[in-house]
Amino acid sequence: MNFEELCLDPRIFRAVTEMGFEQASPIQAKAIPVALEGRDMIGQAQTGTGKTAAFGIPMLQRVNPKSKKLQAMVLCPTRELAIQCAGEVRKLGKFMHGIKVLPIYGGQDINKQIRSLKGGVQIIIGTPGRVIDHMRRHTLKMEEVGTIVLDEADEMLNMGFREDIETVLEKLPEERQTLLFSATMPKPIMEIAQRYLVDPEIVKVVKKELTVPKIDQFYYEVNPRKKNEVLSRLLDMYDPELSLIFCNTKRKVDELVEDLKGRGYFAEGLHGDLKQSQRDRVMNGFRNGRTDILVATDVAARGIDVDDVEAVFNYDVPQDDEYYVHRIGRTGRAGKSGTAFTLVVGREVYKLKDIQRYCKTKIKRQPIPSKDDITDIRAEKILEQVRECIENTHLRKMIDILEEYLEECDDTALEVAAALMMMQMGQGEEIQLRQEDFGDTGAEPGMVRLFINIGKKQRVRIGDVLGAIAGESGMAGDLVGAIDMYDNYTFVEVPREHAAEVIDAMKNAKIKGKQVSVEPANRK
Ligand code: AMP
Repeated sequence: MNFEELCLDPRIFRAVTEMGFEQASPIQAKAIPVALEGRDMIGQAQTGTGKTAAFGIPMLQRVNPKSKKLQAMVLCPTRELAIQCAGEVRKLGKFMHGIKVLPIYGGQDINKQIRSLKGGVQIIIGTPGRVIDHMRRHTLKMEEVGTIVLDEADEMLNMGFREDIETVLEKLPEERQTLLFSATMPKPIMEIAQRYLVDPEIVKVVKKELTVPKIDQFYYEVNPRKKNEVLSRLLDMYDPELSLIFCNTKRKVDELVEDLKGRGYFAEGLHGDLKQSQRDRVMNGFRNGRTDILVATDVAARGIDVDDVEAVFNYDVPQDDEYYVHRIGRTGRAGKSGTAFTLVVGREVYKLKDIQRYCKTKIKRQPIPSKDDITDIRAEKILEQVRECIENTHLRKMIDILEEYLEECDDTALEVAAALMMMQMGQGEEIQLRQEDFGDTGAEPGMVRLFINIGKKQRVRIGDVLGAIAGESGMAGDLVGAIDMYDNYTFVEVPREHAAEVIDAMKNAKIKGKQVSVEPANRK
């Protein structure tokens, strides 16, 4: 479903377009119309499905930017989620001038939050504990709250927030819309729904039985900033005749095509903004081999009927399990073999696990190829070209020049050949992409748990640790996972692809003026 069909506020439509969303994800297509009607809703969806926009868009549409009163509230289980969700809602509300969105969570200075709240905030996105704290201090005025969203409700219950959630719900005006999102629907969730939601519509994405064609499937855990580099390494390494690369947004398609062209690949993009004539041109180029890499969104790829696609790359993990099957089904056609590669960032591994379970398929983790692996392969290719050149070209003139050169200097012919080969290869930036294997540190999948020798007794707060890690390593703070602080030490989880960087960056860092040591934790 297109966003045009969803009758969005033009300002939100503009934001969605700018974010490069090409079509509504399945949960959005179902949930947005229901929520826009003002009805209560139970949405069954997990992270990565686009659920934030599914409730964020209707929530924003109900907010009146002219009033500075608190009008909508989202409860999330963790600080990271609150920050992420607030970021997404801000982007969606970018063109609704006067709307303020504030994440409020434990670990952050409460007085700072109180000051921000006093300035007038229409939407807060918070963790239950901190929201209750503010309610007790009367720093949150609930009378005008017209929408409440419980995000990842099952997680919140698992974390023991049931009582807090109920306290919040009791305090809200009765005339309000309640949206409950949860990946699973255990009994306590249904009890909350029964008690606090009025005639809710249940929205979930029904899944068809899917069969995955026999295709070799691999995934790579990558640092989000190194995705393009990893992708080009894989392209160099496997050197497929025709490749199809999938991105989740039109914007990403355009950016990636530019980047790949800049790296010397014959790549073209395909998405819904192109005119038919442009699409035809791109498709013809791909069919006749002028273009060997096609970068597309899910929607645009529907019209592609090419049998020889050797490799499919999921630059972004797809938003729906079904998309995954459609995407990789573009390769391995007509009895040919095919390979599918997926780049995974941080907690997206969960989504991949889900895809594997649901599609009953195996996606194997692989280490990112090293620079050496690529050098060997590139050298081989250059040597092939050299052989061809020797066979088919008149080299007399070049031989004369080289003979003269070799007589005059001390270099050997082999050294000259090696230098030319090096120049031909391009030295490229030395980027460390390979991930160290930290073994099992007792972290969530996709994360590494780090041990830091500083804790509560040294008067350190969680915010200090978070700040130091983000500040020193340059990694976005919202990528930091669980932080457990004890008297004399602290455990912090960071995405696996950032772990080496963080450990390195923290070598000379201080927290609250104290030198610290950071190392991978032992298993719990
Ligand atoms: P969520 O499930 O809300 O955590 O969203 C996962 C990611 O998908 C976020 O980075 C969103 O910006 C992105 N996203 C949400 N809706 C769409 C859409 N319709 N098309 C492409 N990307 C989307």
